[in-house]
Amino acid sequence: MTVEFVCVGTEILLGNIVNTNAAYLAKKCALLGLSCYHQSVVGDNEERLEETLRTALSRSDIVILSGGLGPTKDDLTKEVAAKVFEKELHEDAHTRQRIEEYFKNRKSRTVTENNWKQAMVPEGAIVVDNDNGTAPGIILEADGKTAILLPGPPNEIQPMFEKDIEPYLNKRQPEGIYSHMVKICGIGESRAETMVADLMDEQSNPTLAPYAKTGEVHFRVTAKAKDEETAEKLMQPMIQELYKRFGDQIYTTEEAVTLEEAVVTLLKEKHMTVTTAESCTGGLTAGRLLNVSGASDVYKEGYVTYANEAKEKLLGVSHKTLETYGAVSPQTAHEMAEGAAKAAGSDAAVGITGIAGPGGGTPEKPVGLVYIGCSVNGNVRVEEFHFQGNRSKNRDAAVVNALTILREELLKV
Ligand code: ATP
Repeated sequence: MTVEFVCVGTEILLGNIVNTNAAYLAKKCALLGLSCYHQSVVGDNEERLEETLRTALSRSDIVILSGGLGPTKDDLTKEVAAKVFEKELHEDAHTRQRIEEYFKNRKSRTVTENNWKQAMVPEGAIVVDNDNGTAPGIILEADGKTAILLPGPPNEIQPMFEKDIEPYLNKRQPEGIYSHMVKICGIGESRAETMVADLMDEQSNPTLAPYAKTGEVHFRVTAKAKDEETAEKLMQPMIQELYKRFGDQIYTTEEAVTLEEAVVTLLKEKHMTVTTAESCTGGLTAGRLLNVSGASDVYKEGYVTYANEAKEKLLGVSHKTLETYGAVSPQTAHEMAEGAAKAAGSDAAVGITGIAGPGGGTPEKPVGLVYIGCSVNGNVRVEEFHFQGNRSKNRDAAVVNALTILREELLKV
């Protein structure tokens, strides 16, 4: 079943308000298993609104309109929809009574004559109460097509959608959409996609869709089913197949779980502590780890050692190493990780040193060159990376790879 949105309001067209209703409705309807192929925005103009509504109804089963249900003359949605569905407007006694009560409960405001315009509904329409305003929602059905008219203010449309529209749509489209996000680290996007090319070719229900993120690849596994249990049955074989192919590189199958959360959980499970020694990332890795609630169990202190003197003073990186190999070198990354673990008394540590750019690169050590050292229980691993982004992307990529290496080393313990 297809759904389409028409958001009404000249202020949206002018960019004075952001069309958050469209994003809200799109997300909600996708979860309900409705297919959405079009969205439109139209100003408070009768002709153009009529044309937009007729077009939308010609190609979609359900059209959800938001806005233009207010009391003023330029609020035209209901009048236009009634015209398109060839229905007369009449006063709805129940809505009139609700409007009276609404104003009675707000003693400071008096009902003006034009408020009664909101009690007028097209004949045969389903009227949906508005608990947070005066304009009711309206559902019109004819010849297999449906128009759902909802108020514009987000604090009115959202509760109304969740209380009454969602159950209505659920009845119309009994199958919902359920998904898992299989998150993979330590592998590039093109390699990951190649490894699942056959699954992508065969997909139907569930479907498999890749999303590339800095340093990570996510696969959304989505099933259409009548309930969550049936959806799980459809999705699990696909998820198990992904585990067969990517193994430990999968750090979660839940949308809400981040890489840093997976790392903190792993540290907790292993009763281990970690620290970070950062040069080019300037504390970003520490920031990501400390974003995780409960990180204080595993992280006590960390170091931002930008200058060579700081690397020597705080981490004990040797003067000779810095002089011989330079601050951006595998030897320095090694000593940073080792020194940080020692200084903080932690079981694990990562040391990051590199050239984030845009300045500072040389032919031998170009922008994007980053060394990451990782020490776990005294064993140190160092990796070299050549990132191709701008300063911010290179720094983000370094953080994700540091977390990935740390996770890989922790899994070996
Ligand atoms: P009411 O229920 O208050 O009579 P209405 O249905 O007539 O409202 P509009 O007058 O079109 O709705 O819009 C009222 C307000 O709702 C706007 O000023 C804006 O703040 C918000 N709004 C309207 N449409 C949208 C939208 N698409 N996205 C986000 N906010 C919106």
